[in-house]
Amino acid sequence: MNLKQNILIQPKAMKTLLNCPSIIHDPPMPPKHFRLDVDHDGIAWITFDSPKSSVNVWNEETLREFNHLLEIIEHDTRVKALVLRSAKERIFIAGADIKAIRNMQHVRVNELIWLGQAVFDRLARLRMPKIAAINGACMGGGFEVTLACDWRIASDHDSTKIGLPETQLGILPAWGGSTRLSRIVGVRKALDLITTGKLLNANAAKRAGLVSYVVAVERLDALACSLVRQKRPCLRFRFENLFSAIIGHLAKRKALEKTRGLYPSVTKAVEVVTHAVHGEIEKGLLLERNAVAELIKGRDSARLIDLFFKREEANKRPVSGGTALPIHDATVIGAGVMGAGIAHILASRGIRVLMTDVSNDSLARGLERIQGLVGDARRRRLVTEVQVRDTLDRISTTHVPVPLNRHHLVIEAATESMELKRKIFADLAARVAEDTILATNTSALSVSDLAKTVPNPERVIGLHFFNPVHRMPLVEIITLPETSPDVLATVVSFVQKLGKTPVVVKDSPGFLVNRILVPYLMEAVRLHESGISVKDIDEAMLEFGMPMGPMRLLDEIGLDVAAHVAKTLASAFPDRFSHTDALDKMVNEGHLGKKTGQGFYRYENGKEIVPTTHSDLPRHESIQTNLALLISQEAMRCLKEGIARNADDIDLAMVLGTGYPPFRGGPITFARDTGIIDY
Ligand code: NAD
Repeated sequence: MNLKQNILIQPKAMKTLLNCPSIIHDPPMPPKHFRLDVDHDGIAWITFDSPKSSVNVWNEETLREFNHLLEIIEHDTRVKALVLRSAKERIFIAGADIKAIRNMQHVRVNELIWLGQAVFDRLARLRMPKIAAINGACMGGGFEVTLACDWRIASDHDSTKIGLPETQLGILPAWGGSTRLSRIVGVRKALDLITTGKLLNANAAKRAGLVSYVVAVERLDALACSLVRQKRPCLRFRFENLFSAIIGHLAKRKALEKTRGLYPSVTKAVEVVTHAVHGEIEKGLLLERNAVAELIKGRDSARLIDLFFKREEANKRPVSGGTALPIHDATVIGAGVMGAGIAHILASRGIRVLMTDVSNDSLARGLERIQGLVGDARRRRLVTEVQVRDTLDRISTTHVPVPLNRHHLVIEAATESMELKRKIFADLAARVAEDTILATNTSALSVSDLAKTVPNPERVIGLHFFNPVHRMPLVEIITLPETSPDVLATVVSFVQKLGKTPVVVKDSPGFLVNRILVPYLMEAVRLHESGISVKDIDEAMLEFGMPMGPMRLLDEIGLDVAAHVAKTLASAFPDRFSHTDALDKMVNEGHLGKKTGQGFYRYENGKEIVPTTHSDLPRHESIQTNLALLISQEAMRCLKEGIARNADDIDLAMVLGTGYPPFRGGPITFARDTGIIDY
């Protein structure tokens, strides 16, 4: 019997799904990706375990196999209940096989959507208790299948992450997720989860009503067994769902304000969720299918999916030709904004950290910052009390020189001054082992110059974290011609283990991100000098999709810091970069941006006051073209000069390091797609 026939046996519910072309072939038996065991109590355990892979994903093959197992269960009179679980250590089901989807024609994607809906609907209609026992990542289609179950229970393991991130890929949950979630948790929570695409840990998922119980992983199966004997939960009446039209209207307005209509997947998701909450499930499924069919026709989702893969690759790709050593202990020099941020992220990932500074006072301020960061994470329930304690326990401090030969990595994050950093490096060389990796977090100073101050310069490298460290996903890794492959491999793997995305670049003024950003920021200042208002410039770039306009960004960075970086670049590339007197003037007047309460904007009581001047030329489009062109031009120069390894790395670094609009794919993809410069 083929799959379509299997699905056709479903009653009325499947009527609307029948117009799809047949999905062919019988699945292989025994299944390759699942185990089915029926125990003495009549519980059918379906264990998802794709061979030769660390992940489980839904694709045509796995959906067909799963469907076949459901058919077997339907006809097996011994079976009284079903438990779906995964044999993988850190993954329940990672979602749809995006790689396969990327290479599919639209018509095939539509068929796959149809197939997934039909199979999960079959699961929902099984007349027995169905329990999803979630351990590890449960995302997208991985979560949608659980929404067709009666119970969702989760392990409290760190790897358990639950959510529907489809809108971040320019599509929306279309295997029943947009339809079923709002019926389970209410329209508001469903919209929040779907439109943000956020992933929740097990406890947060329980609070949001996504799962009913959270237990230790060893207790998941026992809990599943006990639930089988309980009455199946009914969907609660949700008063708020009566007002879905109003909630949807407000949510759409908010989404449009936030995204400026640049992310159609988000507004489409709001429409589908709020319309699909009432009436028959099939109506919702139809809305989901139609919405996805429309969204995948646009270029945005293709670019977002490409970017997703670029990031996945950067997060996992090892350095060829070098051996990565594990790092358990590290020293961080400097307990300021960056030093404390780096010490915090290292300690929260299990690394023992010694943080140093010039005085006890500076160290106390650094520790206070770290306590603030863990306290905030605790308040938002992102970490447990035990994790807070463990993180703080891993950090020790000193303001006197101590031997550091046990530590495999030193990250220098002291005040930005070449003279100071040279001294620190020379002093470190006497206190560390010969092969200790010496990294600097400098924003713009020459890493090569620093390397000259130590013996064995092949162990010197730049590790450029962005501010705030716990939020910014990018780390630029700055290499020198003499950097040893083992040092590079170790540092890349270290950054990956921190959960950050490494992009390897050559030592060159401004490295990659700042170099591309500076001409854009300086041109924005020049446009302002020429009479265009701060507001018009910022609005133009917000409409382009930047998360913050250039004038506000300058205020955030600090005008003194920006002027310093601009000067460094102007002296390195005098033919193209020049810094503006306007910035110097503001710095001399003590207007340094947000930190002094006055920059291009004025800041009072935590609020920014927009300057009232109006420009004569409020042509947002021409401002955008001018500024976006500069970003792409500099990005292309970096590519030609080999500052980054390839165009993908440049696109990724700009999206992750500056918030360059991801739906545009990055400045090089933008240049290529729009033809604004020769590619
Ligand atoms: P900061 O002024 O907040 O902190 C610098 C710290 O270094 C201070 O606590 C200072 O007491 C300490 N220090 C000075 N001399 C020292 C010494 N000899 N030994 C140990 N500690 C010493 O500066 P920050 O913003 O944290 O910047 C640190 C580094 O990170 C700089 O190189 C900066 O360019 C770079 N960086 C900053 C940002 C940012 O946005 N702030 C972003 C990326 C990189």
